[in-house]
Amino acid sequence: MCAIEAGKRGRRVLVLEHANKVGNKILISGGGRCNFTNLYATPDSYQSQNKSFCVSALTRYAPREFVALVEKRHIAYHEKKLGQLFCDGSANEIVRMLMDEAEAAKVTIRLRCNVTSIRRADGFLIETDLGFVAADSLAIATGGLSIPQMGATGFAYAVARQFGLNVVATRPGLVPLTSSGQALEFCRRLAGVSIPCTANCKGASFTENLLLTHKGVSGPAILQVSSFWQEGEHVQIDLLPGFDLLTHLKERQAARPKANLQTILSALLPRRFVEAMCETSLPNLDMAQVSIKDISAVAHALKDWTIHPNGTEGYRKAEVTLGGVDTNDLSSKTMGGVGIPGLFFIGEAVDVTGPLGGYNFQWAWASGYCAGQYA
Ligand SMILES: Cc1cc2nc3c(=O)[nH]c(=O)nc-3n(C[C@H](O)[C@H](O)[C@H](O)COP(=O)(O)OP(=O)(O)OC[C@H]3O[C@@H](n4cnc5c(N)ncnc54)[C@H](O)[C@@H]3O)c2cc1C
Repeated sequence: MCAIEAGKRGRRVLVLEHANKVGNKILISGGGRCNFTNLYATPDSYQSQNKSFCVSALTRYAPREFVALVEKRHIAYHEKKLGQLFCDGSANEIVRMLMDEAEAAKVTIRLRCNVTSIRRADGFLIETDLGFVAADSLAIATGGLSIPQMGATGFAYAVARQFGLNVVATRPGLVPLTSSGQALEFCRRLAGVSIPCTANCKGASFTENLLLTHKGVSGPAILQVSSFWQEGEHVQIDLLPGFDLLTHLKERQAARPKANLQTILSALLPRRFVEAMCETSLPNLDMAQVSIKDISAVAHALKDWTIHPNGTEGYRKAEVTLGGVDTNDLSSKTMGGVGIPGLFFIGEAVDVTGPLGGYNFQWAWASGYCAGQYA
């Protein structure tokens, strides 16, 4: 996006990419259909040490701008849910669109090109394994640490530090959480079970599905809260959001005293999950035998299920990297490094991170657009 915009201004633009093709993350995103933006991607959706930093870019390049580009190219798309826009066909259409725009803006792209060092000269002197490149402006768009197996590197952070810019500590975001001990046994036994829920962590709350896995918990609700979770903290889960379980159980006790608690709960939650809960932490009794205290305890256990993750599945499985180049050291108007004319940082490399659902691409497009006006 940055290259396209700079090219449109008549700048001679060279993109250096160390992979053998561009847009790898676009291609794998959204299950191959690329969730390319979110209609509700407003600045307050993003995490950053400096929450107001992204306001300018997201206002100047809002989701509708990218949608206009997609529509100009007649790429069919749909809203899946919650403002999330996906291609009807394939993510490849988004890469093709960007490549065509880049070609129209006379951008040159050099693949399999690894940058080995950057020096301040009259502008910048960039050493690559394909030779030296001199440039007046340099935009670093090398992403974060997520999915190192696809070529992610900490390159942007190293460049930022080299030029005296601060880097906010990074950690994996939108990532499955892991468990240990008995909690892990429980998850393993139920691996594959998915339950709609509301997951809460440190004031952030998301109503989506939870998935039990061989390592702990995942699914959209957990990926979302994982960006707020830190070591030692717990995640609180309401397995029946918007449902008054306490009243329901009291009503069922009066109406079906001979029914087993497990049967009553299995009408509300996956049977395998209820069986495992009844074996480990809930009473396995007929409703007539369940005391009022027990009913409250059951309602509490399911409406306020608390898990204590022992970690995350790390950058290998993280969709994004939280933290990054400190926005206090960048101009929110140009994305340029403060006091370093010509050096820009955009996209995931910067300490701006969105939730699941098209927000992170929107940040990449918007920040790239802004830098492209000045680079
Ligand atoms: C599995 C997965 C699915 C996702 N799905 C979505 C989604 O549907 N919607 C959404 O909004 N976000 C999604 N994301 C997040 C989104 O992909 C990223 O936020 C976005 O790609 C960031 O864009 P970027 O240009 O900053 O970095 P990247 O897309 O990571 O691009 C960085 C590029 O720099 C190259 N590079 C790195 N180091 C060097 C170097 N030293 N020299 C030369 N080149 C280098 C890399 O090869 C890469 O091509 C997903 C992420 C993952 C991992």
